[in-house]
Amino acid sequence: MKDSIAEKTKERWHGKRVHGQLPRNLDKKLVDIEQSYRWLKSGDIKGETESKIVAIQDQAIGTNYFKKKILKEEIESKCRLCKQHEETINNLNTGCPILAKNEYLMKHDKICTHLHYSICKALGIETTDK
Ligand SMILES: [Zn+2]
Repeated sequence: MKDSIAEKTKERWHGKRVHGQLPRNLDKKLVDIEQSYRWLKSGDIKGETESKIVAIQDQAIGTNYFKKKILKEEIESKCRLCKQHEETINNLNTGCPILAKNEYLMKHDKICTHLHYSICKALGIETTDK
């Protein structure tokens, strides 16, 4: 019964035009689906935070592109910072030349720091701090 409800919820989510973009776009050959959604099962983040992350993954938040194409607002769909590309989540996350100068480097460094710490921890190598 519980599995049936979960399956129907999943089908409804995947069938929505905007919502469900992430699961439709995941390449099952390249992505470990079970591991990718493990954070949703752990239950250690607030519901509000979880819903925001899922909305971002579905590209269903107030970017200029979303407002123009989905909400049909009369606005410019280009990025507010660079004004070169459509302001989508993907562009903001990886494609904006303005954000590339600092924000992407900081994100890269934080991820590498976390990976380094996790690898040291997994191998039993002592670390002073994270
Ligand atoms: Zn931009």
